[in-house]
Amino acid sequence: MLINVATLIQEPVGHARRYHADGERVAVPDDGYVQEITGPIRLIRSERGVLVSASLDLEGVDLVCARCLEPFREPLHIEFDEEYVTRRDPLTGERWDADQDEFLIDSRWHLDLSEAVRQYEQSTLPIQPLCRPDCAGLCPTCGHNLNEGTCGCDASASTEPWSPLAGLAERLRMEESHGPSEA
Ligand SMILES: [Zn+2]
Ligand SMILES: [Zn+2]
Repeated sequence: MLINVATLIQEPVGHARRYHADGERVAVPDDGYVQEITGPIRLIRSERGVLVSASLDLEGVDLVCARCLEPFREPLHIEFDEEYVTRRDPLTGERWDADQDEFLIDSRWHLDLSEAVRQYEQSTLPIQPLCRPDCAGLCPTCGHNLNEGTCGCDASASTEPWSPLAGLAERLRMEESHGPSEA
């Protein structure tokens, strides 16, 4: 999503504009990143460019449930304040340097929210996403997705969280102790 700030950039520091994104598309093609954003965006003329304050609902992010490992898609809300800087004085045309990691207003006085949205989406992703709050997860014994019904395993076994590993360790021990005698 490109926002034209050609007029705002000519105005004194502190002057502001309000926008409302309504399902507008942002994209970072190099990353294959696409998203749709909805929400208010405030632009304030700053010393070096334009301060962007955004409060955005993202249409959907692809997640994998931490309990049942099924992929699912869910909306996400992000908020950010970022300064987009110019590389030249809008009045005199005098050029100055900007840091590599700063968001830039391009030479035609457009600022692009796409990369900021991508970065804030990344930093807002849930650490333990759940496909639903009461996701039943996987059976620790057989790996069956318990959201799809019970599997017939002994329910008491599932109270021991490491039982699949314990079972594997036990099998390895058996193989080790039996291996040499069979060889
Ligand atoms: Zn789940
Ligand atoms: Zn099971």
